Amino acid sequence: MPLTSENVRATKILATVGSACESAGGLAALLDAGVNVFRLNFSHGTQKEHGERIKTIRALEADRQNPCCILADLQGPKHRVGEVAAGTTVEAGDTVTFDQQEEVGSKTRLRLPHPEIFAAIIPGARLLMDDGKLVFRVTTIRDDSFDAEVIAGGPVKSRKGVNLPDIILDTKPLTEKDLADLEFALEQGVDWVALSFVQRVSDIIDARRIIGKRAGLMAKIEKPSALSGLDDIITASDGIMVARGDLGVELPPEMVPGWQKKIVARCRMVGKPVVVATQMLESMIESPSPTRAEASDVAGAVFDGADAVMLSAETAVGDYPVEAVAMMARILESAETHIAQNPEAALPQLPVEPSIYHAVARAAVALADTIGAKAIVAFTTSGNTAVRIARERPQIPLLLMTPDPAVQRRLTLLWGTQSAASQLTNDFEAAILEAVATVQARNIAASGDHIVVIAGMPFGVAGTTNSMRVVSL
Ligand code: PGA
Ligand code: MN
Repeated sequence: MPLTSENVRATKILATVGSACESAGGLAALLDAGVNVFRLNFSHGTQKEHGERIKTIRALEADRQNPCCILADLQGPKHRVGEVAAGTTVEAGDTVTFDQQEEVGSKTRLRLPHPEIFAAIIPGARLLMDDGKLVFRVTTIRDDSFDAEVIAGGPVKSRKGVNLPDIILDTKPLTEKDLADLEFALEQGVDWVALSFVQRVSDIIDARRIIGKRAGLMAKIEKPSALSGLDDIITASDGIMVARGDLGVELPPEMVPGWQKKIVARCRMVGKPVVVATQMLESMIESPSPTRAEASDVAGAVFDGADAVMLSAETAVGDYPVEAVAMMARILESAETHIAQNPEAALPQLPVEPSIYHAVARAAVALADTIGAKAIVAFTTSGNTAVRIARERPQIPLLLMTPDPAVQRRLTLLWGTQSAASQLTNDFEAAILEAVATVQARNIAASGDHIVVIAGMPFGVAGTTNSMRVVSL
């Protein structure tokens, strides 16, 4: 579907790819429903499976001639229960033995393939499973196993995440598996890499050494220790994910909404794209419509100022992947319309750094507003200009034109942006013609309308954004 002024939604949608949507037809349907970024969750599936998915996405991208953004989400030092027999359920009061035996788990015995847990476990420690849906408390400890009482029961499913908020585990931020998956993902040309369970800024710096400029680097905030070094982590990363699934288990869940607001606000302040993730439309895994609370949560992320929102199991393994994306798109559009029609609901203006980038971005948005321009067009080689303009949350389309398809893909994540390929040219007048042709082709502006174009002079040199031009069509 071509982008037009009628259907440009500003808040982006990330969808996790899994068996429910991974066919070419399934992924195409998700794109049509409004997905902007595909997330490959390396906690599940093999490299071969992810490689197939990447191939399918890139083929769709070529077919549609529309850049497609892929995020590789590394598992990190996440602990998981082993395989569990289908239909296993535990009830409050039951006792379950945890060990490392390679046998399929049952309601009396579950596998935890993590020696570091057995090395550190203490009586009374809580063990939470499946984003905290199940709660166990450790009672008896033996050499190679321990017993735990079920405090909150329910279905136990294979490979679900396990959190131990009461004990400190000796883990590395990038496991051997992560290093192998990272190398694979970079070879495959993914656009973003997400690091799970970041604890300190050095985790980001270590990963950056490997990734370099080959992909954007997103830090997932899901550990209390990341919150104490938040500003440094944001500065060192290219983007942030509020990973509420694990964060709401590591912290009391009631602490998550406030942190979400704080993290989103700090990211917007410095122009880093921020994703709000997990359980956004959780009930749509099994139901074609969301709860009112879920609709409100998705809208709340917009009101907080998030760049993007994410679907996990809803699209990866749910029964209604397309419906979930379509519903999310409708909630986002409705929240954005509310902001557009109710100025008191708009995000507060942010202070401007005394830099040319920031000043030009702010001035371009103000100029466009004053003259009722239909779009802001930014020529950008690095994307630095783009984040500064997006931060101002202009109420009109922001078209980024860049010669680099990798930059086009990566910036898909950014609030309010769409992009187009620009010919490599040193000729600003020719570039203006390109911009005009693009906004007309996309029905963003028509004869008689104005657009605001920003670029660097001399034209085509990175890091020079310094000029603004009003073009009347
Ligand atoms: P996960 O990360 O889905 O990889 O666990 C997101 C979260 O924890 O919210
Ligand atoms: Mn997580």
